[in-house]
Amino acid sequence: MANSQIIKIAYLYEDLMNTYGDSGDVKILAYLLKQHGDQTQVDNVSLNDPLNANDYDFIFFGGGQDFEQTVVAKDLLRHKETLGAYIRAGHPMLCICGGYQLLGSYYKTNSGVTIKGLNLLPLHTIFKSDKRMIGDTRYMTEWGEVKAFENHSGQTYFDNTNLLHPLGEMIEGYGNNPQEKIEGMRYKNLIGSYSHGPLLKNINVANAIVKLILAWHQERCQTSHVS
Ligand code: GLN
Repeated sequence: MANSQIIKIAYLYEDLMNTYGDSGDVKILAYLLKQHGDQTQVDNVSLNDPLNANDYDFIFFGGGQDFEQTVVAKDLLRHKETLGAYIRAGHPMLCICGGYQLLGSYYKTNSGVTIKGLNLLPLHTIFKSDKRMIGDTRYMTEWGEVKAFENHSGQTYFDNTNLLHPLGEMIEGYGNNPQEKIEGMRYKNLIGSYSHGPLLKNINVANAIVKLILAWHQERCQTSHVS
């Protein structure tokens, strides 16, 4: 393809953070980008691997169980600066469930252990063993209704509601926590969500993310002469 572009996606800890089909989000994006005439390169950035976030057009961070989250959280701290700059500049990123939790200040687990998050977003999560939030979810977003599946015991709360906005308003299911009836989080072009299924089977959200990816790719090409 003569005018085909190579869209670079960093999949953070693909081998450790991939619950309930989250890798489908990346596959759906690759499919849509192919329809658009572009090729996709997906790099699994795992334990001890280097990361320069601005080398990528999109960053994906999936869900994980508490044990994997504990392992990943320690390694992830190495990338605080590069991910923080990428997010603050408004570049596109999607974080699901365990990945979403780890961008906040902390995740207090079932065993009472507090996992230190990246602290890039003013939110925190507390595991409540008496309330597993599992089942189908439906919620309304800027792009229309979303249908997905959730399975988590972590309850997430925003610490600064001026900076963070919900991804959606619940119609069915729990979302961030059992009280607030909101699902996920948006900060600039970063989306956090408890939705598995995968989330991007909701083509309205997937198309919105593809637009962001292509816009950032153009900008990245102009500044760094990428093809
Ligand atoms: N371990 C976390 C919780 O239960 C996240 C689970 C997940 O990513 N599916 O809240």
